[in-house]
Amino acid sequence: MNLNDRISDQVNRVPRSGIRDFFELVIGRDDVISLGVGEPDYAAPWHIREAAIYSLEKGMTSYTSNLGLLSLRQEISKYVEKQFGVEYDPETEVLITVGVSEALDLACRAILNPGDEVIYHEPCYVSYSPSVIMAYGQAVPVATAAEDGFALKAGTLSEVLTPKSKALMLNFPTNPTGGTLSRADVQEISEFAVENDLLVLTDEIYSELLYDGETHYSVAAEPGMRERTILFHGFSKAFAMTGFRLGYACGPPPLIEAMMKIHQYSMLCAPITSQMAALEALRNGEPAMKKMRDSYAMRRRTLLDGFEEIGVPCPEPKGAFYAFPDVSGTGLSSKEFATRLLEEKNVAAVPGDAFGPSGEGHLRCCYATALEKLRIALEKMGELVTDIGKEGS
Ligand code: PMP
Repeated sequence: MNLNDRISDQVNRVPRSGIRDFFELVIGRDDVISLGVGEPDYAAPWHIREAAIYSLEKGMTSYTSNLGLLSLRQEISKYVEKQFGVEYDPETEVLITVGVSEALDLACRAILNPGDEVIYHEPCYVSYSPSVIMAYGQAVPVATAAEDGFALKAGTLSEVLTPKSKALMLNFPTNPTGGTLSRADVQEISEFAVENDLLVLTDEIYSELLYDGETHYSVAAEPGMRERTILFHGFSKAFAMTGFRLGYACGPPPLIEAMMKIHQYSMLCAPITSQMAALEALRNGEPAMKKMRDSYAMRRRTLLDGFEEIGVPCPEPKGAFYAFPDVSGTGLSSKEFATRLLEEKNVAAVPGDAFGPSGEGHLRCCYATALEKLRIALEKMGELVTDIGKEGS
């Protein structure tokens, strides 16, 4: 039996993650400095780990409600109101999921019929287009540009709008560019969504991680948007809790109910240990979160100054923990540059085209990495740029 013939067309249409493919090369190599994986280099704060341990000590090892623990949904509802300025009813409008990853998948599966189109901005997080495709939708990218700070401009949306456009997928601050939206951008995008009766899926997982006095604005808070928006957030990034696998979706009851149906048959509920840890993160996690953010701010500055020094242009990322320098001046493609950086200088960063064709020419460098490692990585990158320059002359 040829098992390759038995794989579904939907799955065959989806490529493997460009990040993972690249990092297969790095696994097991202690000599490599990695700016590659998009996660904090901190362990979750101790009081959060302790809450998880204590819940186990108390014997909390059961399922929870499909929606998640009510106490956590209540706490999420308070946090979301404070963070995004939108109120959600914890009883019917909040669903706790296994990371934002699951929430994105559920939302796509809940709203899409075969052929429905979802517009998303690119470069973007690697799972967006696959989540749409695996839900039988069509993923329709709109390129964002370095000169706009990788913000999505509402004007570009009308170019790809068709009668089949059903939803708009957003992620600001953006992985991999660190791009953010101004208030005016958010207003214009929201007006576009309302005028064209689009649903909006907005992944605001990096919303706490902003620098240089930047403010986060959510489309969910704009007039006419709450009723058409699913807001995603989670604990992986700001609270350094990636391994707990906990996220949530907030939205109007019919959308949350539809997502919950898929969740209850596929996942049943998110792990109770992680939910107990998340409860502690929301109740007492702000000081540690701010401390981590301050350290990312310092690392970001080191990286940006370093890129300037070695003559690699880098649009200033305003949020998340990624820089997206432009290495096209070396004459190499993203992949060629990243491969040489790894093979010749033992530094790993993700080629920009892993995030869509408009990422070509760039490199994603995650700066949730120790300062000392960042400095060495910069030095090595500088050496490679010089080597390449010499080859050309
Ligand atoms: N959205 C974005 C934009 C991300 O960068 C990531 C993780 N890299 C996720 C979602 C997935 O987050 P989670 O760990 O909550 O599944």
